[in-house]
Amino acid sequence: MSRAYNFCAGPAALPTAVLEQAQQEMLDYQGKGLSIMEMSHRDQVFVELAARAEQDLRDLMGISDDYAVLFLQGGASTQFAMVPMNLLGEGQSADYINTGQWSKKAIKEAGRYGRINVAASSEDTHFTTVPPQDTWQRSDNAAYLHYCPNETIGGLEYSFIPEVGDTPLVADMSSTILSRPVDVNRFGLIYAGAQKNIGPAGLTLVIVRKDLLGRAADSVPAMLNYQIHADNDSMYNTPPTYAWYLAGLVFQWLKKQGGVGSMAQINQRKAEKLYGFIDNSDFYSNPVEKISRSWMNVPFVLADDSLDKAFLAQAEQAGLLNLKGHRSVGGMRASIYNAVPEAAVDALIAFMADFEKRNG
Ligand SMILES: *Cc1c(COP(=O)(O)O)cnc(C)c1O
Repeated sequence: MSRAYNFCAGPAALPTAVLEQAQQEMLDYQGKGLSIMEMSHRDQVFVELAARAEQDLRDLMGISDDYAVLFLQGGASTQFAMVPMNLLGEGQSADYINTGQWSKKAIKEAGRYGRINVAASSEDTHFTTVPPQDTWQRSDNAAYLHYCPNETIGGLEYSFIPEVGDTPLVADMSSTILSRPVDVNRFGLIYAGAQKNIGPAGLTLVIVRKDLLGRAADSVPAMLNYQIHADNDSMYNTPPTYAWYLAGLVFQWLKKQGGVGSMAQINQRKAEKLYGFIDNSDFYSNPVEKISRSWMNVPFVLADDSLDKAFLAQAEQAGLLNLKGHRSVGGMRASIYNAVPEAAVDALIAFMADFEKRNG
């Protein structure tokens, strides 16, 4: 058996050790004679596993008891609607920062539920910059401010956490959660689809300050109401049990690696190597302003895009998978999440250097 290096943006690479443990436990979970997938979510075995996963996440991110942690379904895209449905009261408005394709989708969806003020946008630079905070035109008494700290498609990552005073700060952390330490106390709500840096698709994490619960209108469906999920420990209905279990294994793996601080050091090194190589070459380039380059998603283009197809085909032959850029931007993108080892980045750089030598 051989595992290739997988640079997929999502669903993304999982740690091999996690998949091996899942494989071992597949048929008979800890001597119970059945798999996790075949067990009731009310079974004490699952309830304990679920609680442990939540506690491990709380430890990793330093999440206090002031916050509820929800294990939901529907992906980050459902959160684009749930956030305004739960936080945007009658007659209120919300501020959004537009820094890329995911921000745009969040803004469009929120527009169905109330008044949305786009306080800043970097669309004029093709989303290669983060608008400086002193240029943001925030509204008075916004219900919250929403931003996307890491734009997965453009490879743009904020180098700062916005200062918004008492306004609840809402962040779509789908592609940056657990990649580096963050002060959760600065946020009102954090959400993330699991399939980038947490586990398999089908699970969505929401970390929400408890004072923000209970604000949804009566007309909001139970399944889309944070309060109901919080009151029921995310078991109002059947949760995505297997995805929850796998996320729990990833959290334990992260703890064994030394936690999010250790991952941050490795992630920074991986990213700096790759950007350093790209910047030193006339053959490859990345358009994002240096201070806002993502540690997780590294888009790059070839000077001659007629070579794109050959690049991707030869990379695949060399065991470097899923390097094609998003269809909206073209070129290449290497997603180098926590589970992508430094050796994968080294192998990619060696391949890129060799490809340049043969074609440059
Ligand atoms: C992948 C992604 C999404 C969409 O996630 P789904 O789980 O597919 O809905 C939203 N925001 C960001 C930043 C993403 O990376």
